[in-house]
Amino acid sequence: MISVVIPVYNNASTVEELARRIDAALQPSPYEAIFIDDGSADDSLTRLKRIAGANPSVKVISLARNFGQHPAISAGFEHAKGDVVVLMDADLQDRPEDIPRVVEKLGDDVDIVYTRKAQAEEDLAVRMSSALYHYVFSRITRSPRFAEIGTFRAFSRKFLAALLLYRERNVLYGPLMVYMGYKSAMIDVVREARASGGSGYTFGKRLALAINSLVSYTDIPHRLSIYIGLALFAGSLLYGAAVLVQYLIYGRSLPAGFTLVLLMLTLMLGSLMISLGIIGSYVFRVYQEVLQRPRYLIAEKINLAE
Ligand code: UDP
Ligand code: MG
Repeated sequence: MISVVIPVYNNASTVEELARRIDAALQPSPYEAIFIDDGSADDSLTRLKRIAGANPSVKVISLARNFGQHPAISAGFEHAKGDVVVLMDADLQDRPEDIPRVVEKLGDDVDIVYTRKAQAEEDLAVRMSSALYHYVFSRITRSPRFAEIGTFRAFSRKFLAALLLYRERNVLYGPLMVYMGYKSAMIDVVREARASGGSGYTFGKRLALAINSLVSYTDIPHRLSIYIGLALFAGSLLYGAAVLVQYLIYGRSLPAGFTLVLLMLTLMLGSLMISLGIIGSYVFRVYQEVLQRPRYLIAEKINLAE
């Protein structure tokens, strides 16, 4: 059986067509389409309930509020019963007609199939945060192809079992799944234009995601603060030596004036605050993980056993 996992956040305009096209693409083989309503403000949930009422293969998990795309995906993965799992977006940018082709590529030697699509992001802010994100992850995962990988993917039960072992609160599936390894394959798919409406992400939400992943998957931020500290230290050693030489050879003492003193003071304080902030953000994350809060809360399940 194939389990299709789809997080839904304000996708009322597309869920009906999506469910219909998934059904058409996968019939007559058994499948389940798990839609996770991530606290949508529109009538996505009402529509999903109606679809699930007419088609028992459609399952709905309604979350207690908006928890975010990745926690919503967790909910779907934890309920998936298939021996193959497909992850896709709800906005019809991924074509349900491609599912059989992606799934077919799985086999004894392939545990996860990624898809690649020609990306043409409109917004400058989106392009910038996405460039930062992809730069970081192609370095961590040592996979220059990371930037090409889309959300749409299919993987085996074995891969899912491994994926569910990762219990971090702040889960991010994009980097995590590449980081996990296993044998992968890549296929090209067409990425449709957004059917209607805007992205479920605001710039702030997207930036928070990029920073979140920067902090949790790399040591770049605190390494950076060490480098800044080292540079300042080296600079002050050089400057101290220069002052000493001036004094010893020419007998001159320091020039009058506070300009330099002020400059050094602000520079030092500034870099100290930055380092403290970086440490603080790691401490905060450790705190969040220690709390062991659930990633999501379920308000209601439809066509799913308790
Ligand atoms: N999404 C979600 N919760 C959120 C934001 C997004 O579940 O808080 C879902 C959304 O319904 C969609 C997927 O995540 O299925 C990707 O979102 P979107 O298509 O808006 O992002 P973009 O295409 O701009 O990357
Ligand atoms: Mg989208």
